Amino acid sequence: MQPSETSQTIPTSAPDDDRVQIVEVGPRDGLQNERVRIATQNKSRFIQALADAGLRRIEVTSFVHPRAIPQLSDADELMVILPPRPGVRYSALVPNDRGLERAIAAGIREIAVFTAASDTFVHHNIHTSLAESLQHFEEIVKKAKGLGMGVRGYISTVFGCPYEGKITAQQGLGVARALLAMGCDEISIGDTIGVATPGDVARWLDAARSAEIPFNRMALHFHDTRGTALANVLVGLQHGVRIFDSTAGGLGGCPYAPGASGNLATEDLVYALHGLGFQTGVDLDRLVAASSLIANQLDHLLPSRYYQAARVQPCLPH
Ligand code: MG
Repeated sequence: MQPSETSQTIPTSAPDDDRVQIVEVGPRDGLQNERVRIATQNKSRFIQALADAGLRRIEVTSFVHPRAIPQLSDADELMVILPPRPGVRYSALVPNDRGLERAIAAGIREIAVFTAASDTFVHHNIHTSLAESLQHFEEIVKKAKGLGMGVRGYISTVFGCPYEGKITAQQGLGVARALLAMGCDEISIGDTIGVATPGDVARWLDAARSAEIPFNRMALHFHDTRGTALANVLVGLQHGVRIFDSTAGGLGGCPYAPGASGNLATEDLVYALHGLGFQTGVDLDRLVAASSLIANQLDHLLPSRYYQAARVQPCLPH
């Protein structure tokens, strides 16, 4: 698709760009905001079921301080019992040097660092300024790249901040440029509090294209807090983005963003993508089966609409 025609046309699969990469972040971004503690063994089963469903990139945990996010305090044990799987990339969040050391010891080959487009959010979240967080991650990224590891950089609050409100495109783009310049292989653009509308996403992506941000190194990470996540994905597709983050069943939200809930559900994303003619490599029935492994351990229903429909009407053709 030509950039000039992407804003107006419904995306259809072209031979060379009909594959979409899904980065399944349920075991980390999803579970970190779930109140009920999931046993390490069950996390391992869940992750293996996600791989069985065809997901090839799975963010499995976070090497944060065990007290910071109790749900993920078993990161080291999880990596001991989770068998490596050829063709599946397991990644983990790393907040600092100690986290990187733990990730290396656990055999992780791909890490993610995280900052935000909004200074106040960074302050509340990791207790430094945005500039300091970038300086800090520069060393971690350099070290990880030196060891041949893959590195992803998350940017939270790109479309809005729970403390500062509206965030300009330039704020997020400045951080995106800094993360790419320090060696991140990929950046993930996060709508942490789920405020972005399709119009916001289109304007942001136009600005990103003007800023020469490489779209093949950029993922979009939407939350469905206000029901706009899938519409936002469609705009991303129209602009040529082919990497999207989601969580199985729509697990979790963000513990640092008051009121934020509902990561885009992988089932809903895959269903829409397949309907548009995109390939994901994901088997929806198996994905529902993976989500159901976690569903019966939670204190609430999984929000994924596809998951709910599949549980009620499993025989409907799709
Ligand atoms: Mg999220």
